[in-house]
Amino acid sequence: MTTPDLRALLRAPEQVPSTASAPPTAATPTMPASGAPATPAMPAMPAMPASGVPAAPAEVPTTPPAEVPGLPTTAQPGVFSPESARKDVPILHRTVNGQPLVWLDNGATTQKPRQVIEAVSAYYSAANSNIHRGAHTMAREATELYEAGRTAVAQFLGAPSPDTIMFVRGTTEAVNLVAQSWGRAHLGPGDDILVPVLEHHSNIVPWQLIAEETRARVVPVPLTPDGEIDQDAYADLLSARTQMVVVSQASNVLGTVPPVREMTALAHRYGAKVLVDGAQAVAHMPVDVQALGADFYAFSGHKLFAPTGIGALYATPGAMAEMRPWQGGGNMIESVSFERTTFAAMPHMMEAGTGHISGVVGLLAAIDWLRGFDQQAVAAYEEALMSYAMQAMATVPGLEVIGSAAQRIAVMTFTLAGHDPASVADWLDKDGIAVRAGHHCAQPALAHYGLESAARASFALYNTSGEVDQLVASLRRLQQAGQGAEGA
Ligand code: PLP
Repeated sequence: MTTPDLRALLRAPEQVPSTASAPPTAATPTMPASGAPATPAMPAMPAMPASGVPAAPAEVPTTPPAEVPGLPTTAQPGVFSPESARKDVPILHRTVNGQPLVWLDNGATTQKPRQVIEAVSAYYSAANSNIHRGAHTMAREATELYEAGRTAVAQFLGAPSPDTIMFVRGTTEAVNLVAQSWGRAHLGPGDDILVPVLEHHSNIVPWQLIAEETRARVVPVPLTPDGEIDQDAYADLLSARTQMVVVSQASNVLGTVPPVREMTALAHRYGAKVLVDGAQAVAHMPVDVQALGADFYAFSGHKLFAPTGIGALYATPGAMAEMRPWQGGGNMIESVSFERTTFAAMPHMMEAGTGHISGVVGLLAAIDWLRGFDQQAVAAYEEALMSYAMQAMATVPGLEVIGSAAQRIAVMTFTLAGHDPASVADWLDKDGIAVRAGHHCAQPALAHYGLESAARASFALYNTSGEVDQLVASLRRLQQAGQGAEGA
C-alpha cells in the first residue's frame, strides 16, 4: 500500500517539500524561522493558585510592566498556561503600529496556530485533489482527509456519528441551511419561531426571511436587565404553535451563556425543534450536543482557530429526515435524469458542489490542536482571565460593561464616557490593541441597553493578564488625555 498516512503527514509538515516556508514578503511581518517571538516577550499571566483563580489585581498599572516574570515552561497539572498556546500562534508575535500585537478581537475571529497553517499548506503541497468522485489515488486520499475531518468534528461535538455532520461555510450558512431546508418544508401560517433578543443577526435574519415566505412568525424572547434570556417569558411564549426555538450557547455581545439544555428540554415538550448557535461557544467550553439535546448545532471554524469559509452543522438523524435539499448540484445526487433525479444520503445531500477541502483539513488540524490542551483547564483559565479583566476594567473611570449574566464567556462589551466606541477602538489600535467597535451584528441586544454601538474586547486561551493590563493602561491614558485627544 503506497498511500501515505495523510493525517501523520499533516502533523509533520516539515516532511513536505518546502514551498510552505516561502520568504516573508514586504507585507508579512518578519518572524524567526522557529516561530519564536520577534518582538519582546509577552507579559505573563500571574501564576494561578491551584483553584484556578488569579489573585485580584492590587493596583492596575498605567503602563505595561517592563520586566515580565517568566512563564512556567512546563505545564502544571490542571493549570493551563496561555504560553503553551501562544508559542504556536505566529501572528501573535507581530507588531502593529510599532507595538506588540494584543489581539482582543477573538469574537470576530481567532488567530491560527502554525499546525493549522502548515496543515493547509501541506495539503496543497502534497495532497490536493477533488474528492468523492475521482477514481484515482489522490482523490481517495483527499476523500479520506475530508471524511477524517467529519469524524473529528463529530467527536469534538460529542455527536453520535460522522453522518450527523454537514460541512458548511460557517454558522451563517448553517442557519440559512436549516431555515431553507427544514423551515420551508415545515413552517406555515400561524407557526412561531422563538428567537431570543441577544441573538446574532445571522440567527435572526434567516428566520425573518423564511417566516415571510411561509407566513410564520418570528417571536422575540426578551432579556432581563442583566442580559439573561428571560426564562419566565420564554416559558410563556412556548405553545403548540412553536415549531422552532433558536438560541446561542454564548452571546457574542453580552457573553451570556444561557441554560440551553433546560431551554431545549422545555421546547421539546411542545414538539418544537431547537437550533443552537455555537459560534461563540466552541472555542471556550467543551461541547456535547447529545447532552444539550439540540436538534441542530452550528459553528464556524474560524472562531475555533481554523480557516475562514469552513464550519459545520450537526443535526440529529430525526431532524435530518425532515430536511429537503436546499442547493442542487454535484455531490448531492444519487442519479440525475430529466425524468427523475434522486439524492445522495445525508449528510452529502446537503453538500452540493465541491466543498472547502483545505478548510476541512485546517479544521481537523485546529481540533487536534485544541484537543491537545486540557479543555477543563482552558475553561477555568479563561474564567479566571475574565474575572481579572472585569476587576481591572472597573478601575477605568467612566467605563461601563454591558451585561452581567451569571454565566458568561470571556467577552466584554463596554462603553467609555466621553468617547464614541469607534474612537476608543482607534485609540487602542495605535497601541497595537485590536478590539471591535460597532453593533457587533447584534443590534437588538445593544438596543436592549439603549445603545447603537459599543466597543468589545473578546479573549481566547492565548490571551494573558498582561494584555488585560495593557488594555486597561491604554484606556486610562485615553481618559486622562480627555476628549480632545480622541483619535490622536
Ligand atoms: N453567531 C454568533 C453568536 C456569532 O458571534 C457570529 C459571528 O460573529 C455568527 C453567528 C456568524 O458567524 P459567521 O460569520 O462565521 O457565519
